[in-house]
Amino acid sequence: MTKRVCVVKGDDAAPEVVVPTVQILEGMNLDIEFIRVETGDEALARYGSSFPESAKKTLDEANYAIMGSTRDIRGVHGYLRWGKRCFANVRPTKYVSGLRSPLKNPEGIDFIILRENIEGLYPGWEGDIAQLAPLKLKSDMLDVMLDTAPKGKFAVKVYTEAITRETCQVACELAMKRKAKGGRGIVTVSSKYNVLTQVDEMFRRIAEETVRQYPELTFNQLIIDNCAQQLVINPQQFDVLIMGNQHGDILADEASALIGGLGMTPNACLGKEFAYFGSVHGTAPDIAGQNIINPTAMLLAGAMLLEHLGYEEEASGLEAAVYKVYQDGKYLTRDQGGNASTTQFGEAVRANL
Ligand code: ATP
Repeated sequence: MTKRVCVVKGDDAAPEVVVPTVQILEGMNLDIEFIRVETGDEALARYGSSFPESAKKTLDEANYAIMGSTRDIRGVHGYLRWGKRCFANVRPTKYVSGLRSPLKNPEGIDFIILRENIEGLYPGWEGDIAQLAPLKLKSDMLDVMLDTAPKGKFAVKVYTEAITRETCQVACELAMKRKAKGGRGIVTVSSKYNVLTQVDEMFRRIAEETVRQYPELTFNQLIIDNCAQQLVINPQQFDVLIMGNQHGDILADEASALIGGLGMTPNACLGKEFAYFGSVHGTAPDIAGQNIINPTAMLLAGAMLLEHLGYEEEASGLEAAVYKVYQDGKYLTRDQGGNASTTQFGEAVRANL
């Protein structure tokens, strides 16, 4: 059956990477229908809303999207992430020769950060600390009451057992899939379980329980601050990492620096009924309209989409075509030390396919 993939172009410079990526994917003549969704500035001009009902309807009729970054976390991005409950954010970091790593020895870096995507601190449940007064909160660690008299703010961090377990299951399935292709089958959970002995410890415990259900996998745990330094000291030790929302957000950006930065890293957001794919970087407004944005992240997101849809060979082919541009070194974009345009990079990928 033809797979329907919605195309959300995103804002500012994002369409400059989404459009050529979709052109390349369409050129592969697979059984995929790409459906344009009108959002952002063009929808605002036409319908008076950057996320009109018609866009929502189109997304509701599909199960997949390729998405350019948007300026606003609400609107279409919020709808896909929270509305469609895409709870598992897969963020791969892989070094291949030709990439610009700040490390002396980046050979062999190949891991995935599986970040829980809809809970933790990011739903943004915040308020004035005075509102907490009726709770008479006492510290778990010390015999100290929360003084709600001074002016200040709080944020609530929530992990539910169900979403944590489902996130960990996705991580284990990924680790199994990677193991079948020669991966090491190591799943590392990282949180601040030594200090947040309830919420972060529950996250750690559920990860351990889940990994133990897969005898082929090895369980590992690291306190998040140690994990941050291990990513720099010895990133080759990692295979699949599981992290909560904020920790994964921060450490996955750190990880992307190991292979040349945000322009290089794609991600997938998986839910039970919907999955969307895109770049980790933002809308890059400072370079919009100049045809210089690096399309690597979006092209690799296209490869992740193909793999997710079962087109494994085509996914590997596209990934190899992108990496060959780096091995040849002739058509690199500015952020990678070259002076090729976005269009030239895309043409080089096409020629390698
Ligand atoms: P957000 O909060 O949405 O992540 P941001 O402003 O923090 O947005 P980006 O939009 O990713 O982050 O931009 C950060 C810097 O990196 C900008 O100078 C931008 O031009 C640059 N940048 C981001 N992505 C790319 C890319 N694919 N190619 C080249 N430069 C990029």
